[in-house]
Amino acid sequence: MTRSARVVRYVYDFDETAAGGRELLGGKGIGLAEMTQLGVPVPAGFTITTDACRAYLREGGLPAGLEDEVARHIERLEATTGKRFGDSADPLLVSVRSGAAVSMPGMMDTILNVGLNDLAVAGLARTTGNDAFAQDCYRRLIQMYGETVDRVEFERAETDVEPLKETYRRQTGSDFPQDAREQLRRAIIAVFESWQTPRAQVYRRTYDIPDDIGTAVNVVQMVFGNKGDRSATGVCFTRDPSTGEPGLYGEYLVNAQGEDVVSGVRTPQPIEEMRERLPEAFEQLLETMARLEHHYRDMQDIEFTVEEGKLYLLQTRSAKRTAAAALKAAVDMTAEELISREEAIARIDPSQLDQLLHPRLDPKAEFEVAARGLNASPGAASGAVVLDADTAAERGKAGEPVILVRWETTPDDIHGLIQSKGVLTAHGGMTSHAAVVARGMGKPCVAGCEGLEIDVDARTLRIGGHDLREGDRITIDGGTGRVIVGAVALVAPQINEDFETVLAWADNVRRLKVRANADNASDSAKAREFGAEGIGLCRTEHMFFGDERLPVMQEMILASDERGRRDALERLLPFQQSDFEAIFEAMAGLPVTIRLLDPPLHEFLPPLAEAADERMRSRIRGLTEANPMLGTRGCRLGIQWPEVYEMQVRAIARAAKAVQERTGDAPLVEIMHPLVGFREELRRLRELTDEVMAQEAPELEYLCGTMIELPRAALRADEIAEVADFFSFGTNDLTQTTLGMSRDDAEGKFLTFYLEDGVVDRNPFEVLDRDGVGDLMHIGVERGRSTKPDLKLGICGEHGGEPTSVEFCHELGLDYVSCSPYRVPLARLAAAQAVLKEGSRAVYVAAGG
Ligand code: PEP
Ligand code: MG
Repeated sequence: MTRSARVVRYVYDFDETAAGGRELLGGKGIGLAEMTQLGVPVPAGFTITTDACRAYLREGGLPAGLEDEVARHIERLEATTGKRFGDSADPLLVSVRSGAAVSMPGMMDTILNVGLNDLAVAGLARTTGNDAFAQDCYRRLIQMYGETVDRVEFERAETDVEPLKETYRRQTGSDFPQDAREQLRRAIIAVFESWQTPRAQVYRRTYDIPDDIGTAVNVVQMVFGNKGDRSATGVCFTRDPSTGEPGLYGEYLVNAQGEDVVSGVRTPQPIEEMRERLPEAFEQLLETMARLEHHYRDMQDIEFTVEEGKLYLLQTRSAKRTAAAALKAAVDMTAEELISREEAIARIDPSQLDQLLHPRLDPKAEFEVAARGLNASPGAASGAVVLDADTAAERGKAGEPVILVRWETTPDDIHGLIQSKGVLTAHGGMTSHAAVVARGMGKPCVAGCEGLEIDVDARTLRIGGHDLREGDRITIDGGTGRVIVGAVALVAPQINEDFETVLAWADNVRRLKVRANADNASDSAKAREFGAEGIGLCRTEHMFFGDERLPVMQEMILASDERGRRDALERLLPFQQSDFEAIFEAMAGLPVTIRLLDPPLHEFLPPLAEAADERMRSRIRGLTEANPMLGTRGCRLGIQWPEVYEMQVRAIARAAKAVQERTGDAPLVEIMHPLVGFREELRRLRELTDEVMAQEAPELEYLCGTMIELPRAALRADEIAEVADFFSFGTNDLTQTTLGMSRDDAEGKFLTFYLEDGVVDRNPFEVLDRDGVGDLMHIGVERGRSTKPDLKLGICGEHGGEPTSVEFCHELGLDYVSCSPYRVPLARLAAAQAVLKEGSRAVYVAAGG
């Protein structure tokens, strides 16, 4: 090591190579450098690195040496172009453009025509013989520079140079700067500063872009699309970004600059028209597009300018695309041998697949968003507002599209949810009842919508300032959390061959199995259709609701002794049995994990004020708990009232036998006990399970296991494994018990503040908290397998359908993930991507953008 300070280099010409790649040069900079090196026609210029931006943000000023370096690169640019910067006769003009490593379209600033002043504008008019053009260039500089560098607010309509300069003078107290080098210096600073604007910060938070990576700045020789009829500017794609169809898609404008296309001031023309008007440039564009797509091996989004017939490319990046386009392009490029199947799998964003499984708002529809809530379950729905579950059930059953709108839903609302097109709640988060149930059913849900007020008695509601009555139409978009007053056109789901093809490839790659959380036959069938390889969680509590069942369940809870309870349970058994039979048949040949009763019993009783009589009131009081999620629930119920679990196991055994007799095949039964913390709990419950199974179906093979949803269970997994055939990580509860955060009291409340304020990066109820909860899972896996090396391991919390959490489950070596039926395709893809990431760092990651 030498003792001399490292010499930091901040500026690279486009034809120089830099070791730092995209992180150092930004997306635009690396694209320009690579295009230059490929021999694609690109204007000359240089990139000021993200290192310089970070130094600027750290030190609050331009880092030492940067200005000298910029001056040297300007000299080289002068030599390349044969023009001088600041010259008044034939000036070199440059654009100063932002370009971060991660694309942030439109979030940061760009200034064109830097280098013009009162004298140079006359020179430009003379050398081009076009005074209007020169004036137009100067006008753009004054506007963009004034707005970006000095925050001047111009009248939109003003297009003449003199009044613009006057406005600049009035608002800043000085004349428009005439020194080209000063313009350049302040433009560079303004681009660095634009990294910190509120809109850029919001964008970064939305798309999980780190705050500290900074932007590069590209200083590029100006080329002019506004020099007359043989000049133009445009944007094009190598394939259709909405459908993925190969071909040429794009728009252009004759005699214009890029901002005119983007800002919508003038209406662009379809790019095919260019074939007639500018044939040579058009042919060259086609050839260049093919080359770029081949080089980057991905669909490109290209910006270009034609200056007096000569083509220049200003930018290329991998194109943002819909899920349908992503799948089609991936399948086609594989057929074209441009990419491998593994690359095709790696290219698709699993979360985007949701777009294809649900109806969506018509992208062409125009509407006003009245309020926003959490995007709790994807898809869009339009319907009449209904304020209670009974009415929703009634009107929905009669064929009317209805949206159930509630403060929040409870299991008691299930019949209304089933008959609704979607659900909107004022309260509750991503794991609220409405959210979980809606996701399971594949219905749209917007939860925790703060702009919603409901007056159930008056049958009215207010949404973001609009007064509505029950029966009025609204539209919800559960993929984005938007709520719209009135009906909006929808487009149907689009599962197609490309979808099936890519998922079949993913199935060949993944190691994790994918199961579904489903508790009725139709959800099970749906899950199977989406490729589920079994049920990982059948929650049985939902089977105790409904007109015929709930009163019997309540009788059981109200009974004063075991005899009374057994009497009610005997009447519940046939209901359970028939539900299990239907699920076993729907999942024939695949394993079904049935979880015994979990929630606290008060959930089956009405609120105290609605109790039928004194006996019920006193029972409700007796069951009241300060913290029901940590009270008498899960296996604690089964230990205290073994007859409840006994009935459930009996129903499972009888259903399995009946199905076997009917179909000839025995269902693959897995019985799961919830909320176990002590070995002794599971030992007792296993004994009970084995006894009943031996009585009812002695021949039937089955597994008996537990959820791991308490920290103690994970820590004592070695002991618990002695009496378990499998573990399923219940990460909903494991998250709340590890973090000490009640899910119902965190989301939409302090957790929202934590997320906004950066205390935590992600909602741990959505994205698994690897460091905390994940560590406990790691311990659970290791200790469990130390006792039983072949212990079957899965996850059935909501995280089982979240792509990064699926990746973590793969790394942990789980056997399967289980998630809502509609997330099964996403999990299949994410599980395959986890293998690819692990296996090869060489797998292509989208480039060019
Ligand atoms: C869990 O806790 O992760 C789980 C799946 O169970 P539930 O959400 O029903 O409590
Ligand atoms: Mg749980």
